[in-house]
Amino acid sequence: MAHRSYKSKSPKKTVLSTNKTFTGTEQFVTFWGVRGTIPTPEQNRLKYGGNTPCIEILNISSQKHNSLIFDAGTGIIKCCENALLRGDRVFHLFFSHMHYDHIIGLTKFLPFFRKDCKIHIYGQAKFSKTLKEIIQHFFIAPFFPVEFYQLPALNNIYFHELNGLSQIDIDGIHINIQPLNHPQEALAFRIWSLDKRTSVVYATDHEHGSNLDIELEKFIKETDIFIYDSTFSESNYKNHIGWGHSTAKEGATLAKNANVKNYIIFHHDPSSTDTYLEEKILYEAKKIFDQSYLATEYQSINVSELHTLLTPK
Ligand SMILES: [Zn+2]
Ligand SMILES: [Zn+2]
Repeated sequence: MAHRSYKSKSPKKTVLSTNKTFTGTEQFVTFWGVRGTIPTPEQNRLKYGGNTPCIEILNISSQKHNSLIFDAGTGIIKCCENALLRGDRVFHLFFSHMHYDHIIGLTKFLPFFRKDCKIHIYGQAKFSKTLKEIIQHFFIAPFFPVEFYQLPALNNIYFHELNGLSQIDIDGIHINIQPLNHPQEALAFRIWSLDKRTSVVYATDHEHGSNLDIELEKFIKETDIFIYDSTFSESNYKNHIGWGHSTAKEGATLAKNANVKNYIIFHHDPSSTDTYLEEKILYEAKKIFDQSYLATEYQSINVSELHTLLTPK
């Protein structure tokens, strides 16, 4: 296997570097963008990051590696640079939904501008538009100088509509799908490792308080990494009821009830400074569930290694 070194181009943080020999299979999750709503390049928000949602799940076996990308927020820019450097030429890009913070990086997804890349796009058809029509709308004058039909990768772009599906398999990777409570609906994904030993749940954007909470609790049961829309503190949420987002307290409660191993606070509110995230949001989560962590841009987690560490022999 040619691609065993995974490094960020970012000068300040290393994503991960794995030069060891792999035995069996391993699953990694990398956070390329963790901020909700709008990018926040302000100095006092950079510890946890200012790019909007994009995470990557990498499954590695001794024969191959498989990378799945979730959402095309501004985080996808570094994500695809890294993947191209690694030698990836086939891309699987999933959309939780199409709100701007989750698609704003799409026109900077470099594989679109190369003839040697194959791109599979997964998401919902909505409002009487096919998934292809929705994506095409982002490459249109006067918003972008290159129209969709002019993209060099045009003949290698494949669309996969997820409407009504509860699961999908990609090269042996099993993915469960669950609707979320969000204006115009979003989808959550549970991504399993190749050997089905570990899993990661990506569940954003979602507001608690509907019947879907029970479904979500079942959906995340005993997962290793539970990434959840934790936009608000308890006090902030009171002013944003009905906006389609949740709190760290709700995330921690779900994590505890579903017996997940690690809860990752995600989709940070643009107004949350690093200090606010640590002293308010994380504090409110940890009161309920100790294995709560703030999603941090460019951070990678080796899920398989974590699973082995946490599972009693
Ligand atoms: Zn969002
Ligand atoms: Zn949204």
